[in-house]
Amino acid sequence: MTDHPAIADRLNRISPSQTTAMRQRVQALKAEGRDVLAISSGEPDFDTPQHIKDAAVAAIQANQTRYTDIAGTPAIRRAVADKFRRDNGLDYAPEEILIGTGGKQVIYDALIATINAGDEVIIPTPCWVSYPDIVGLADGTPVLLPCGPNQTFKLLPEQLEAAITPRTKWLIVNTPSNPTGATYSARELRALSEVLLRHPQVMVLTDDIYEKLVFDGRQFATFVQVEPRLRDRTVTMNGCSKAYAMTGWRIGFGAAPRHLIKAMDKLQGQSTSNTCSIAQAAAVAALEGPQDATEAMRQVYEARRNRVVAALNDTPHLRCHLPEGAFYAFPDMTACLGRTTAGGTLIGSDLGFVFALLSEAGVATVHGSAFMFPGHFRISFAAADGLLDDACQRIRRFCEGLS
Ligand code: PLP
Repeated sequence: MTDHPAIADRLNRISPSQTTAMRQRVQALKAEGRDVLAISSGEPDFDTPQHIKDAAVAAIQANQTRYTDIAGTPAIRRAVADKFRRDNGLDYAPEEILIGTGGKQVIYDALIATINAGDEVIIPTPCWVSYPDIVGLADGTPVLLPCGPNQTFKLLPEQLEAAITPRTKWLIVNTPSNPTGATYSARELRALSEVLLRHPQVMVLTDDIYEKLVFDGRQFATFVQVEPRLRDRTVTMNGCSKAYAMTGWRIGFGAAPRHLIKAMDKLQGQSTSNTCSIAQAAAVAALEGPQDATEAMRQVYEARRNRVVAALNDTPHLRCHLPEGAFYAFPDMTACLGRTTAGGTLIGSDLGFVFALLSEAGVATVHGSAFMFPGHFRISFAAADGLLDDACQRIRRFCEGLS
């Protein structure tokens, strides 16, 4: 039972977003006048590019302020279909596209519209915080497969094969990954596809929201591109939040076969209906306009990644892999367990570590357990260089103080 009789039992199956909880904690500390450096947030620190904001203003002036089709205006569905063709070599008709209130709603629509009680959903971990909770809300069973640094935080084909049962409904893959930055190559996706082709009941949800943020000249790849035979059972999800610094505008999109889009449209029609008409107009400008701002941001993230990872690997008791994409580092802090901070706190877990780091050093991060992977913590480098340098220095001093 929940703690108040008014609250439904289904809410017991989910927990509040722990990344949001950390953001609220930071705001409360700052309101008390505490000096806190927040490197916990998963959103770009850049402003939305000017031509996108101008398109939104023009949409308001043109009175594009009414309901649209549930799945989005014809213009945005066309722009998304063009994006998938241009960037990913995927051929989807506008009727096979749905626009949601952020990528999160597209995932929510897909899972709630398809999962029956007891269906299993394979989720490689570390994973984005919301997948297991949405599966739980749908009465499904998350099947978490640990994919540690020894396998570059990626699911292996033999692991997938061993986890599939007759109840398996979905595999969720996020590339580049939040929180590790792990980015699957076309070859790695092909190897997973070979397993999937042997199990036609398994659908694929690929979360490509960090597509534009890949490093070291890597080529982004997605499932249907490398294995078109998966098209009839794949939802390819993407959006504007990370690529165009548009987290607040709430534009995500999905491409999928018609029967799935129809079901997602039906569900969305009884919840939020269309996403904001003005944000849709802005997203058309984002997708069809110049892409140089996105590339400039990508380069900045790559430079920051290099600084942050070098600083972390120069810090006692921490070890950090090199993220291949997105804007997160996910250092291993297991060598800190059992040690005592300068302030006298015994570090017993990753959560204890991030709390002590926040209260003693004023640096806000997120514990690995929030991503179903203890022994680590997440740093977001979607923050200004100076702030990142200060934060890394504080982390270093904090770790040097452990005994
Ligand atoms: N998927 C992943 C892996 C994310 O990290 C996020 C946001 O943090 C989302 C989806 C949701 O994106 P949106 O803001 O478009 O809902």
